[in-house]
Order: sequence, then structure tokens, then C-alpha cells
Amino acid sequence: MITRFAPSPTGPLHLGHAYSAILAHDMAKAAGGVFLLRIEDIDQSRARPEWEAQIYDDLHWLGLSWATPVMRQSERLPVYQTALHTLWDQGLLYPCNCTRRDIQQAAAAPQEGALQYGPDGVIYPGTCRDKPRPDVMGDMALRLDMRRAAATVAWTEDSTPDKKQVFGPEAFVQTIGDVVLARRNMGTSYHLSVVLDDAAQKISHVIRGADLADSTPIHVLLQKLLNLPTPIYHHHKLIRDDAGKRLAKRDDARAISKYRDEGATPNDIRRMVGLPAV
Ligand code: GLU
Repeated sequence: MITRFAPSPTGPLHLGHAYSAILAHDMAKAAGGVFLLRIEDIDQSRARPEWEAQIYDDLHWLGLSWATPVMRQSERLPVYQTALHTLWDQGLLYPCNCTRRDIQQAAAAPQEGALQYGPDGVIYPGTCRDKPRPDVMGDMALRLDMRRAAATVAWTEDSTPDKKQVFGPEAFVQTIGDVVLARRNMGTSYHLSVVLDDAAQKISHVIRGADLADSTPIHVLLQKLLNLPTPIYHHHKLIRDDAGKRLAKRDDARAISKYRDEGATPNDIRRMVGLPAV
């Protein structure tokens, strides 16, 4: 078993991260497997070296150990570009220069019906899909043409009387839409990087929060398109604050470092998130 914890160095790790990291670590160790770390720093406008240093420090303090070298996404842009070229050459990507506002407005047009949301927010209404495609990929945002992409992995469900597809291409189109695979001037996206990196690190079990479960169909689709293995997915419960709201990066009050400063022990943290002490 190979598991991983893949934080973004854009803020302090909080109790939710501690839960995710400990779970992935303990599952690997219990199975005699390997626990890996990956720094998801593709968004260089938000990633900070001091947050990365704090991640190592907090995880060591929690008693976790991982195999080195640690993978850092900012060092893997050529790998992401190669995969984008593969998809581009298959005619599955198109450039998009819509702003968030353009998308909101187009999706809210009367003929579009009620606003539909997917894993990345409002489902893209397709404004740039049928524009003539340039010869080269360029630095614009690139979207996956979901109808074409999902058609390449279509299957037939034969057990139902009307031979209806259970989660076929149409479901990808309706519930996910044309997601961004390369953000403008970034050369990649969360979805593309995570899929390529999980494959490169030979992750057998992806252990992550339930908030990412909606993205998993996108990841499995990309694995099929790029000829990569599909790991086993384990989406765990989210750690919530006293009001029942899930913790976010800005919840500095729940930062692991804050509990440390106040004298908590790693076992206190384990207990707080409902894991057995060691
Ligand atoms: N980097 C993501 C985050 O910090 C996690 C990605 C994943 O586990 O797939 O939320």
C-alpha cells in the first residue's frame, strides 16, 4: 500500500489536515506500506516557503515520517505540459478566455435554465467550445471538451430494461462539464496535476477529505484518457468546528501550531479528531 498526504503550502495546517495526514500515514504503516508527502504548490501566487517549512515541522511533531525526496508540483511542469499536449493532439482541449463573470452571466442566461453547479463551481456554459482552435496550445486556460472526452470512455449498461447508462458520458456532461485542465499562465490545474502525480508516486490508496469526492470522477476519467492506473479512493469524514462548519485554511484558530503553542501533545490532537492515541 502506498498512501500520500498532499497539502498546498498556502496557510497553516489545521485539525482537518492533521486527521487526513495521520489517517493516510497510519493506514500505510499498518499495512507495512509506504506513506508519501507531496507539496501541491502549482499556484505560485499563493504558495509560500514558510508555509511549506511549517508543514514539515507540524507533521514531524505529529510523529509522522515519510519517504524522501518529497514531490513538489512546481518542479513537474514539463510532465503536466506533456500530458496536455497528448490531450490537445486528440482534440480534447480548447482554449478559453472567459472570466468568472463571463461564465456567471452566460450560465445565468434565461435559455440556460437554473444555474448548475459542478465540482469547480458553475458548470461552464460552453462559450469558447466551438471557436476555431488555434494551431498551438498557448498560455490561455485550457478546458476539457467533456462530451468528447467522456465518449472515449463510454460503456453500455445492459442489465436495465431500457439499457440506460448509469453514469455514462451524459452524466459527465450534465454534472461536471468542461473543466479547466490548465489555468492561464500556469500550465496545469489541480485535477491534471493530482492525477499525474498520484500515478508517478504509484499511490495505491488515495486518502482524502469527502469534499474532494465530487472531483474523483474527473480524476478517473483523466486516468483513462492518459492511460494511467486508477487507485482505490477513500474519502474520509471532514473535521468540523463547533458550529458544524468544515474547517478551511483561514481557520487559523484551529491551526496545529496554535495547539502546540498552547501545550497540546500529538496524542491530544489525535483525540480531538477522533483517532486513537498511540
Ligand atoms: N492539495 C489538496 C488540498 O490541500 C489535496 C489534494 C488531494 O488530496 O487530492 O486540499
